[in-house]
Amino acid sequence: MITFEEAFRIVMESAFHTGKEEVGIAEAAGRALAEAIRSDMDMPPWNKSAVDGYACRHDDLGSVLEVIETIPAGTMPSLPVLQGTCSRIMTGAAVPEGADYVFMLEESEESAGGGVRFTGRPGNDNIARAAEDLFSGQTVLRPGHYIKPQDIAVMATVGATVVTVRCRAKVGIISTGSELVEPDKRPAGAQIRNSNASQLLAQVARAGADGKYYGIAVDEEESIEKLLRQALEENDVVLISGGVSFGDYDLVPKVMRSVGLTMLFDQVAMQPGKPLTFCTGDKKAVFGLPGNPVSTFVQFEVMVKPFLDRMAGVVEKEPQISMPLGADYSRKRAERLAWIPFTVTPAGEALPLEYHGSAHISALTGAWGLITIPRGQSWIQKGEMVNVRQI
Ligand code: AMP
Ligand code: MG
Repeated sequence: MITFEEAFRIVMESAFHTGKEEVGIAEAAGRALAEAIRSDMDMPPWNKSAVDGYACRHDDLGSVLEVIETIPAGTMPSLPVLQGTCSRIMTGAAVPEGADYVFMLEESEESAGGGVRFTGRPGNDNIARAAEDLFSGQTVLRPGHYIKPQDIAVMATVGATVVTVRCRAKVGIISTGSELVEPDKRPAGAQIRNSNASQLLAQVARAGADGKYYGIAVDEEESIEKLLRQALEENDVVLISGGVSFGDYDLVPKVMRSVGLTMLFDQVAMQPGKPLTFCTGDKKAVFGLPGNPVSTFVQFEVMVKPFLDRMAGVVEKEPQISMPLGADYSRKRAERLAWIPFTVTPAGEALPLEYHGSAHISALTGAWGLITIPRGQSWIQKGEMVNVRQI
């Protein structure tokens, strides 16, 4: 059995890049950028008014000013502002030549002769300087950046309507277990519903990869081998749940070897999911995930998702977030790194939830995230800082 850290290192080192493709801006969210994006203009392109008001000379703030024109957003000023004059200006319009201050409509008063007067106290000039946000040629997004909605806005701003991203990794999903029926069937006798396949498809989609489900293999070598060969043929990565522990019918590791894969580990000191199995082939990676639904879920989050990110070239690392523990925690044995579900209290503490173990998937629906319990630690006091991740 190896440590989680060792297993993680092996998995990360096994990652290989998918190819690149161009996508339109509308399809770019959730993808990993493969080539840098540069700005093709300054932002703002000119000194810009940040408010609706009057553009004038700072020196004139104490005087009644003649209004020489109105400048809506979308129209360039046509007259310079000279001593004793101002231009009525709207938010987002270019500040006219000669003006170095914009006072807000709310701080103005029209005077009898048609002029306008500043009634506030001088402070911020309410002018956004040309290029203060972005300059022409500036790299705005780097390769390996995971594209979020706010990045889409930046791409639109700089005219990057077609961008180069990593191809989505193709991920085949197989469930094993003679007890399984698909979720639309009512289980009879010794059967239960297959929850892992649907869950993994959703996790794969959330990770920005392209999942495909291959069905349930019964606990017989031929059945597993048939689906595994097919999934390997058509995908970069295969996730196969169940059948990796040491029971009489746990045949997945044997089949992995028989189809020519190289096994890199088959036991990890982690909880849930000690029998996590990982093997590779030529530009192929196969994860054997223990079948209990919480094991499958957690192992995807802590191992498979970082692997898929690495394949996509994502450079941003998951941040280390810690929170104070909301209640005392203890466990009998501490030889494994563990993850337990928690909710956030109004006081901002991580409160462990009722959790019966790796079959208790419904415990995760009310969870904000998972607390990491370090190896070797069997007792943590309320208030101590613990590492957490959102799920
Ligand atoms: P295994 O890893 O095959 O020994 O399975 C461990 C436990 O997880 C058993 O109780 C299985 O019935 C259950 N299990 C295995 N695969 C699934 C699945 N796809 N959906 C729900 N439960 C499963
Ligand atoms: Mg099984």
